[in-house]
Amino acid sequence: MDKNFDHKKYEKEIYEMWEKSGAFTPKIDKGKKPFTIILPPPNASGGMHTGNVLMIAIEDILVRWHRMKGDPTLWVPGTDHAGTETQITYERELKKEGKSRFQFDRETLYKNIAEFVFKNKRFIENQIRAMGASVDWTRYKFTLDEDVLETVRSTFEKLHKDGLVYRDNYMVNYCPVCGTTYADIEVAHEEKNDPLYFMKYGPFTIATVRPESKFRDTALAVNPKDKRYKEWLGKKLEIPGLLGPITMTVIPDPEVNPEFGTGIMKVTPAHDPHDFELGKKFNLPVLPIIDLEGRMDFSWFLSQNDADSKYRARAEKYHKKKVREARKLMVEDLKEDGLLLKTDEGYVHTVPTCKAGHEIEPTVLPNWFIKVDSLKEAAFKAVKTGKIKIYPKWREITYTRWMEAMHDWAISRQNVWGIRLPVWYSLQKNPTLQITYLKPDGQRVLRSGEGVLATNELNEAKAGLQQLRAPIGSQYEINQTSPGSDYLQETDTFDTWFSSGQWPLVTLGYPDSEDFKYFYPTSVMETAWEILSKWVSRMIMFGIYLTGEVPFRDVYLHGIVRALDGRKMSKSLGNVINPEEYIEQYGVDALRMGLISGTANGRDFNFPRDRVIAYRNFANKLWNLGRFTMMKLEELDSPTPEFDKKMKGLKKQDREILAKLKKLIKTVDEKLTKFRFADAAEAIYQFVWHELADKYVEEIKTREDKELAAAVLKHIYLTSLKLLHPFMPFVTEAIWGEIKNLRKYPDQMLITSEWLQV
Ligand SMILES: [Zn+2]
Repeated sequence: MDKNFDHKKYEKEIYEMWEKSGAFTPKIDKGKKPFTIILPPPNASGGMHTGNVLMIAIEDILVRWHRMKGDPTLWVPGTDHAGTETQITYERELKKEGKSRFQFDRETLYKNIAEFVFKNKRFIENQIRAMGASVDWTRYKFTLDEDVLETVRSTFEKLHKDGLVYRDNYMVNYCPVCGTTYADIEVAHEEKNDPLYFMKYGPFTIATVRPESKFRDTALAVNPKDKRYKEWLGKKLEIPGLLGPITMTVIPDPEVNPEFGTGIMKVTPAHDPHDFELGKKFNLPVLPIIDLEGRMDFSWFLSQNDADSKYRARAEKYHKKKVREARKLMVEDLKEDGLLLKTDEGYVHTVPTCKAGHEIEPTVLPNWFIKVDSLKEAAFKAVKTGKIKIYPKWREITYTRWMEAMHDWAISRQNVWGIRLPVWYSLQKNPTLQITYLKPDGQRVLRSGEGVLATNELNEAKAGLQQLRAPIGSQYEINQTSPGSDYLQETDTFDTWFSSGQWPLVTLGYPDSEDFKYFYPTSVMETAWEILSKWVSRMIMFGIYLTGEVPFRDVYLHGIVRALDGRKMSKSLGNVINPEEYIEQYGVDALRMGLISGTANGRDFNFPRDRVIAYRNFANKLWNLGRFTMMKLEELDSPTPEFDKKMKGLKKQDREILAKLKKLIKTVDEKLTKFRFADAAEAIYQFVWHELADKYVEEIKTREDKELAAAVLKHIYLTSLKLLHPFMPFVTEAIWGEIKNLRKYPDQMLITSEWLQV
């Protein structure tokens, strides 16, 4: 054995040995209960972050422990296409080349993104290997594999048949730059400084940061308790504006804050989520004024032939200008008309932004929805009745609250990179479809369904298709393939959580594979608590809906690894910790153990740098103990006797450490059953360092009965290696290999050796 443990010398080699030996692939044994974990799939085109390392460490501990206990153990690896995130990353690359996605038809764009992802996919797969994950690569899945697509489409079909799918106009968080919708939970909020304009609004004064939307205001809202406006409630008013007077009614809204601005709010149902809901209640028209590329759209005004020429000139001036640009022009005109009373330049407010940091424009779009009431009821009960247990228990409340508050789920996204809805529209039957496509010369056109047929451009529209928008009420068919020649497929793709919500099913070959029959329901779902609502809840809903059974029995939620400074890691703060640097310097085992020791009870914690270093030292200690044990055994003239409980002549110190070892094995089993990983790790560490190395080894150095002491030492040391293996797989396997001649079965690998019986 070398003087010190050099992790770089062993890690890769040992992983290859495990993988090649087939140790990761379980044998199906119908007489035994399997242990199954599905790896939460990391982003296929991304890199590992510290949270991923923690996740892999925890799951690998459970998996190695169960495998050694003799359970048929399956851990399925996979990667995620990460729809929106990946598309944003790819578009940034495009931008560097001076290109944009609008220059590609959706099929070409999809192919290009796929190429980009596949180029990066090996990188993340190798990182999973580098972490020591004992996953079964023969069952590897990617979220866009053909069989996954089929299942996802079939689920949608079934939901539709069961009357759980509908289309509706919906106020979405729309990013005009990304050209897609974001779920509420994906939207970030940023503080921004924007001028607050105080405008004369008929008999009132209103304060707004968005004067541009006032052209499509449909009402004024006041708090019904606000005495100042009591007499106005229900009255119809003519409000002079930049393009002539607008008629609107004063309505009551208890959510208006009388303290904000002047206590009177304009209502724009087309561009504000709250106003949209209010509009439904008071039956207000929804009149959009911002188009899907984030430009002002005055077509509705310009198409009026009797418009005043001054107003027409203004509308022409604003038309198709970006919102902020148009706002400036409008503010000038408000001044000219004497409608601008004052401006508060120092106004700070929170603005919703997309993942890439663009401002969200609330927009009304037709979308696909799932009715969740029946689905969520069963999922709610599964946790309430203990069919699924959540660890730590105190996280359960997050789940219950989310389930109670869950509304119907908008499952469509306007992304290219994702699973397209299996919905088809006939152009004949839907003349008002809006179809955007590229002509062979690259020219981008928008035509109606009727227009495409009239210009005889159906084939061009098919080949160059970018986006299709079907008004509510359009006729459609649901099918895995095209139902006829004049059909175009929906361009919306599924929300990523719609497909990853079926992950335990698709990874196991639902509905009729051998794997599915044997390994489903899985044993444990282990993931970050942050995605309990977004992901775990959806898997439970789909699992029960499609199979009648819960997808997993236990859910373990780990905390978030924060930066050294205690803040959330973020690129902009420059405090992101790159796990690869730590692996390079201290080894995977040390990094894994450091993170595990920080994760007590699933709370968030700061990256435990000192502990990583401490566990690197521990790996060395363990290594040196191995060297010492070898030396002790080699000193003997005859081969060491195998330890046996009934051995004669055991001394007090032998009996003491053997009793402690017995207790340790019990502790480790108990703690792992309760998902108390840090406690289990700590117990082994204390035993090896303080009981074995500091005490026992010192005591036996002077023993006369060398044979007996060596037999006990060997037994304790090999047992310690086994106990530690799930936590520190590389150093333990490396030592196990180095001292093979001391073992009864020299060819046996530690990974497939037997766990300990008390
Ligand atoms: Zn965006």
